[in-house]
Amino acid sequence: MATEKPAARLELVNERMLQFGGKWQYASAPESTEPVKLEKKYNLFINGKFVAPKSGRYYPTINPATEETLAEVADASDTDVDLAVRSARQAYEKYWRKLKPSERAKYIFRIARMIQERARELSILETMNGGKPIRMSRDDDIPLAAAHFFYYAGWADKLEYAFPGRNPQSLGVAGQIIPWNFPLLMAAWKIAPALACGNTVVLKPSETTPLTALELARIVQDADLPPGVVNIVTGFGATGAAIVNHPNVNKVAFTGSTEVGKIIQRAVAGTGKKLTLELGGKSANIIFNDAAIDQAVEGIINGIFYNQGHVCCAGSRLFVQEGVAEKVIRKLNDRIQTLRVGDPLDKNTDVGAINSKMQLDKITELVKAGKDEGCVPHQTRCTLPKKGFWFAPTVFTNVAMSNRIAQEEIFGPVLSVLTFRTPEEAVEKANNTPYGLAAGVWSDKGAKLFKIANKLRAGVVWGNTYNQFDPTSPFGGYKESGFGREGGVQGLLPYLSLE
Ligand code: NAP
Ligand code: MG
Repeated sequence: MATEKPAARLELVNERMLQFGGKWQYASAPESTEPVKLEKKYNLFINGKFVAPKSGRYYPTINPATEETLAEVADASDTDVDLAVRSARQAYEKYWRKLKPSERAKYIFRIARMIQERARELSILETMNGGKPIRMSRDDDIPLAAAHFFYYAGWADKLEYAFPGRNPQSLGVAGQIIPWNFPLLMAAWKIAPALACGNTVVLKPSETTPLTALELARIVQDADLPPGVVNIVTGFGATGAAIVNHPNVNKVAFTGSTEVGKIIQRAVAGTGKKLTLELGGKSANIIFNDAAIDQAVEGIINGIFYNQGHVCCAGSRLFVQEGVAEKVIRKLNDRIQTLRVGDPLDKNTDVGAINSKMQLDKITELVKAGKDEGCVPHQTRCTLPKKGFWFAPTVFTNVAMSNRIAQEEIFGPVLSVLTFRTPEEAVEKANNTPYGLAAGVWSDKGAKLFKIANKLRAGVVWGNTYNQFDPTSPFGGYKESGFGREGGVQGLLPYLSLE
């Protein structure tokens, strides 16, 4: 051993570790659920109060890692949505639009601070309801949600400096619909800029992950926001459609699938409602021969297995330059054997539960299509829990551009590996998709990174890293990944008219 170079020694250690089942053994370190006080039943948050739905309907929301019912949640009807929109309208006309911007900012700062104060409880609840590893809700989702409120609170009284020479005006009532992959964070992305710009909101979380949005409603109540400034209605697709179609909504902000985004775009056409769509993706990670390979492998792993691949900008297509393809694939296959899949509340877990049975069926179907089309799967060897929804991290090689797994969004822990010879070929292949949300480029040469980044038709391009988020940086898509930006100064624009 003493005469070996460090890199060779590391390889040997990795090899030995693989012989022992691929994982360092850690004692389990589960986070306690004690800080979370669940109610049996959650009502709608309208006009500053929790009210029973006029529909009289409730549905169970579960923990996808155990299939246990956590609580019953209200299913809002058109009448309930109408009440929420009325309350938002009244709050807009009566208080919020008239409030001094610096006073608006104080409320938003207060929400940010209260999210920080309750961060532990919110992280645990996010993991229980959504299935993502606690490490991620604790280190990413909840801190970033607070950071978004802090950031946009700062803009509330500076809007005229953001757009010099223009006269920024609020729009009115914003109808906001979000998905299940980053429940509280997506709520923050929507609510924080809307409030900072002087609008009031009606927000609908996803049917499978309503609980942190309902806790946010409690925070809004505790922060003493004027009643009706924020309304949160839970339910299914029909509840979302009722928000989109309500004549008194001035702006629609949607994050979710391209399929539903298209329905919403048609519904809003000709109504004068302002629209932003943040939709699906099939993002490319491009690795050049001159990249730092070990870092790149970590980046690929982070890009696709982070949050079980339930990330709109997941690096689900990997393009490797031929000179390093064999090495990268070998290292990837070794690395996936070290991923810990299981209890999302365990602080050692890397890959948690799939969010729903429906999503698991979709992943299973596409992976089968990959195998049927001749692609070769390499999977993490792990025992999946009996209860709950799980999918072992999977890397596919022998993939062609025309295969379904290289074309369609899987939204799960499944990576398709393809190769290229020249930079031109990498760009052409990466852009050959109906989507355009994100991309990653890995190279030792800064000039090459910038050159390639400029040619990629993607809203975000990361250089020698992946899945980095910050409230000051705009995020959004090209083509079928949607339009409009969230985050940064650009994220104010969807919530203002510039006279
Ligand atoms: P989804 O089915 O499109 O649902 C998104 C939201 O829209 C949910 O709250 C959903 O309610 C609601 N909805 C469903 N049908 C509707 C309709 N006809 N009118 C109005 N609202 C309706 O998407 P998902 O399955 O929850 O999320 C996964 C998708 O979101 C992926 O495609 C992913 O790429 C995309 N996504 C994109 C971004 C981004 O920033 N670009 C971020 C996250 C996710 P229900 O929950 O009751 O169905
Ligand atoms: Mg849905």
